[in-house]
Amino acid sequence: MAQTHILGYPRIGAGRELKRALEAYWRGDISQSELEAVGAQIRRDNWQAQKDAGLNLVTVGDFAWYDQVLNHTLMFGAVPARFEQGAADNKLDQYFRLARGRAPSGAPVAASAMTKWFDTNYHYLVPEFSGEQQFELDTEWLLAEVHEAQTLGHIAKPVIIGPLTFLWLGRAEGERLPLLPRLLACYEQLLQQLAAAGVQWVQIDEPILGLDLPQPWRSAFADTYERINRVAPALKLLLATYFSPLRENLSLAFGLPVTGVHIDCVRAPQELPAALDALGDQQVLSVGVLNGRNVWRADLAKWQCQLKPVAEQLGDRLWLSASCSLLHCPVDLDTEDKLPAEQLQKLAYSRQKLEELRQLQTRLTSTAPGPNGTGLSGGHLVGASPAGESDAANCAVSIACEAGSHSTDGYTPFEADSRDSVAAALENSWRPQSYTERAPLQRSRWQLPLLPTTTIGSFPQTDLLRQVRRQFRSGEIGEQDYVDHLRAEIAEAIRRQEIFGLDVLVHGEAERNDMVEYFGEQLDGFVHTGNGWVQSYGSRCVKPPIIFGDISRPQPMTVEWSSYAQSLTKKPVKGMLTGPVTILNWSFPREDIPRAESCLQIARALQQEVLDLEAAGIGIIQIDEPALREGVPLRASEHENYFAWAVACFRLTCSEVRPETQIHTHMCYSNFNAIMDAIVALDADVITIESARSDLRLLRAFGEEQGGYPNEIGPGIYDIHSPNVPAREELVARLRKIAGVIPLEKLWVNPDCGLKTRSWAEVGSSLLNMVEAARTVRAELA
Ligand code: GLN
Ligand code: ZN
Repeated sequence: MAQTHILGYPRIGAGRELKRALEAYWRGDISQSELEAVGAQIRRDNWQAQKDAGLNLVTVGDFAWYDQVLNHTLMFGAVPARFEQGAADNKLDQYFRLARGRAPSGAPVAASAMTKWFDTNYHYLVPEFSGEQQFELDTEWLLAEVHEAQTLGHIAKPVIIGPLTFLWLGRAEGERLPLLPRLLACYEQLLQQLAAAGVQWVQIDEPILGLDLPQPWRSAFADTYERINRVAPALKLLLATYFSPLRENLSLAFGLPVTGVHIDCVRAPQELPAALDALGDQQVLSVGVLNGRNVWRADLAKWQCQLKPVAEQLGDRLWLSASCSLLHCPVDLDTEDKLPAEQLQKLAYSRQKLEELRQLQTRLTSTAPGPNGTGLSGGHLVGASPAGESDAANCAVSIACEAGSHSTDGYTPFEADSRDSVAAALENSWRPQSYTERAPLQRSRWQLPLLPTTTIGSFPQTDLLRQVRRQFRSGEIGEQDYVDHLRAEIAEAIRRQEIFGLDVLVHGEAERNDMVEYFGEQLDGFVHTGNGWVQSYGSRCVKPPIIFGDISRPQPMTVEWSSYAQSLTKKPVKGMLTGPVTILNWSFPREDIPRAESCLQIARALQQEVLDLEAAGIGIIQIDEPALREGVPLRASEHENYFAWAVACFRLTCSEVRPETQIHTHMCYSNFNAIMDAIVALDADVITIESARSDLRLLRAFGEEQGGYPNEIGPGIYDIHSPNVPAREELVARLRKIAGVIPLEKLWVNPDCGLKTRSWAEVGSSLLNMVEAARTVRAELA
């Protein structure tokens, strides 16, 4: 009989208990042992949920106080010197200093860098390896959790990040691979200790097998796994891969001395036949058939049909699972009280996915006919993405899967009739005039000084503003009071910007608590959950809207706010929108239509908004795309297709504006080298980007040397993540340096990103200094 297991479970708790406990501990409101009790309870609940759903093994080691990669950094003793102080007294506080630079005990210190976990919106803490990096194993936490699970009567399957993925994720002064032998000594001890603790199965995650790996990294796998397998031969290793097809690494993965391999059948269903071919006689095949990154119920009938012969062939060597850790999925639909029943029945959060695994196991075990009497049902795509690429024909399993209705699965297929083909719609997404034709028209319209100053959009979201929003949502105050308050916030933002002396103003985004949620709430086709939280980093969670139906814009979304702001000043006010790719990437997408099509629907809605803003006299419009890079597929061979639709969707939003209307975009990362062509292709008149923390790298990409960036650019001149107010001289110096590389007539002056997390006091001093710095450099150059 096929077995069931998961690669990991969310650790935030069904009611975000971990978030609350962490923040209370950091504030000093609860003790460390109170925090630890909350963590232990979450682990107990998570294991119990797995056991209740009939999973034989419970996953251990997926819990983290902040981040699972950071857990490994500590487990292998790869702690940079600046974090060593105070460590012996308080290991957990040292951990928090690594994560966020601060903890209740110990002195503040610069936190570790954070970056996105593969192509997800989860952020991990980047290990920093020195050239002389030594590793020293500390398994205290992991072994304690294994013991905890065992004591509760569970069979614990610990999960660890594999040595090559762990090294890959880190940064080093030199090459990382030479550190491998020293690191492997730790892995050997780790596996020995786990075996001694009575563990049978260890899940070892190597998601980098889904990347275009350099040859030396590929070559390192065989020896690495020979070596760590040798020390604990009784231990069974399940090598887990996810997020991306294995392709040229598939036979490599299955050829390693591991007892089982997990593949992501959601991202790469077409690899199932090759995996079956490559599978050794004794090896376990774990198939990730439920989407660990989305909230839709799976098409169990389809998987029943496709996996039936596999189950017959492999028996208990077939393991059923979700595609990846459920870390990327909300916790429990039973806590969802905002959605109507007909929506709820289409969804599955993590706990429901456990239940789905059990159902699939039952379907594969029973020989009874299926609900439609044929023994087979389904055929309409739900469980695979993007739809259309993974239908039954792609799963070279030798039985035909009959298409049938799925109403018995509680799932009604979406209406899919009246959509244009994406390609046709995107053909005319160019603005008719080129930048060189538009720029003089814009210059004469706006009459901006050299080095114009602006900001990225948001201004401080004060406690008062949050409180008023809460009161409005809970019905304590009416809509008119809420609108009046927002107008007062906007008026205040305009007044301050005039005092600071900025050239292009913004309304400040007081009406938005989140840049995607706000638009999702205005657009038809989105559904907003009450408790669909997913961890983004540490205690931070996001609640992505769900793209439920076809997307359209019933009425203008931002025009009123922008027009009101513009009515208060003679200076231009920049309209502010979130771009289509970012809205898509930060939502749960549908699985029955390609992402490109949803993106196109969003782009069309935004295009109307852009035109309405323009008609209302807003002649500078910013369309933010901070998530453009995160959506880039992990395999280079898929980049072209992604950029083709992503770029075209962005361009479509502004393809019909007049040439004298100036389109800005904004992105908050600075490593552009890989996606520079796409950024140029967006053809925004102005791009503002994060750069203060890495201006050299940036200048290399945007400077003249490589042909340069053709349109205008505002490299952020100070880091908004820090509470420090940048000194005027520092800003002047940075600006001079940038002005040496980027042509003056193309250069804008602005902060790195939006200011909503800062206080007005910090923002005031910083922006005054920024405007002064621009004046100083302007005067020097004039
Ligand atoms: N306009 C948004 C803001 O200022 C941009 C946020 C972002 O780039 N993440 O907040
Ligand atoms: Zn930003």
